[in-house]
Amino acid sequence: MTLRNGKEFLMIPGPTNVPDEVLRAMHRPALDIYEGPMIQTTYDCLEGLQRLFRTKERTYIYAANGHGAWDAALTNTLCRGDKVLVLASGRFAIGWGEAASVSGLDVEVLPGSWQHPVDPTAVETRLRQDTDHQIKAILVVQVDTASGVCNDIPAIRKAIDAAGHPGLFMMDCIASLGCVPFEMDEWNVDLALTGSQKGLMTPPGLSFVAAGKRALKAHETADLRVNYLDWTFRHGPEHYQKYCGTPPEHLLFAFKAALDLIEAEGLENVWKRHAILAEACRRAIAVWAEGGVISFGVTGPQHRSNSVTVFKLDGYDPAPLREFTRSVCGVTIGGTIGDLSGKGIRIGHMGHINAVMILGTLSAIDLGLKKLNIPHGEGAVQAAIEYIAGAL
Ligand SMILES: *Cc1c(COP(=O)(O)O)cnc(C)c1O
Repeated sequence: MTLRNGKEFLMIPGPTNVPDEVLRAMHRPALDIYEGPMIQTTYDCLEGLQRLFRTKERTYIYAANGHGAWDAALTNTLCRGDKVLVLASGRFAIGWGEAASVSGLDVEVLPGSWQHPVDPTAVETRLRQDTDHQIKAILVVQVDTASGVCNDIPAIRKAIDAAGHPGLFMMDCIASLGCVPFEMDEWNVDLALTGSQKGLMTPPGLSFVAAGKRALKAHETADLRVNYLDWTFRHGPEHYQKYCGTPPEHLLFAFKAALDLIEAEGLENVWKRHAILAEACRRAIAVWAEGGVISFGVTGPQHRSNSVTVFKLDGYDPAPLREFTRSVCGVTIGGTIGDLSGKGIRIGHMGHINAVMILGTLSAIDLGLKKLNIPHGEGAVQAAIEYIAGAL
């Protein structure tokens, strides 16, 4: 017996649910790429990105996924053999570091954990040892989508400043932009990047980079530059140069529609919606945890992200639970990856999500725990409802 027919929920940490307005925006003919309304769409997207990243600096659009933006950040600012320091807090900063190795950079990983955010004191200690400033860039993710940790970016910036270190501070906001507060200029971040398919509610295929003055200065002498990703070419006078070729037009129409939705709601209200729905999710998990099997991936409540929540199942395979919610209830929830592979669940709650989707997802999981006889505390969904009622 299945009850899944009806609207499907995709509650994984990317790609995420695409709003109908965004899907509809793509249903139109292609446009001239040399003149006409496409040019305005480009400027609308580049300026919208400045508002999302909270920066007055330059923004770039790539027809690429997040991995492409990783390469754009590195190749535009660094030289072969430069040392980069990767601040680990799960899987994704390490992945960026692996990309850096392939590009010929010398990668050092500052070890972290899957339960805790990056420790700013450890960052300061390591940078103080780098007296001749061999480290040219410091790479970190704001939210690590594998561990569910949300790093304290201003605290890491402070640690870099306390060490008096000039390394470029580069940030992956793929699982956080449009979900949690980010302030590129106020936090003095040199470069930030993100993708279209998570908090930004757009189909996969676009990624975005914002580069501050110090990143642009480093670009002048960078020798890893490659034509497609190159900022200098993209600064050129012709419209097609912004994309190094034909613009990904339909994805840009989609992204513009998503920007309109975010701006109609107000970015700060978007952050607030994510915070309330994420906390509702955490309230439910705290109740399930009373059964002794389920536990949070991230130890400190203040370090759990508002875009993705990770919980572990001690002694139970999470695969049948995911299969149950998907095939019986019509809700796809994520599995854990990397060090946590096969050990837990990731609930993506970013982008186009509302209270019904969160409460429905929690209810489907609660139902699955019951059907599969996985021990859990009773009243989890009620706890989520009561939290939301109090937060409104
Ligand atoms: C999803 C994700 C990526 C990878 O993005 P792709 O579009 O799959 O290349 C990188 N970093 C973070 C934090 C992510 O969540």
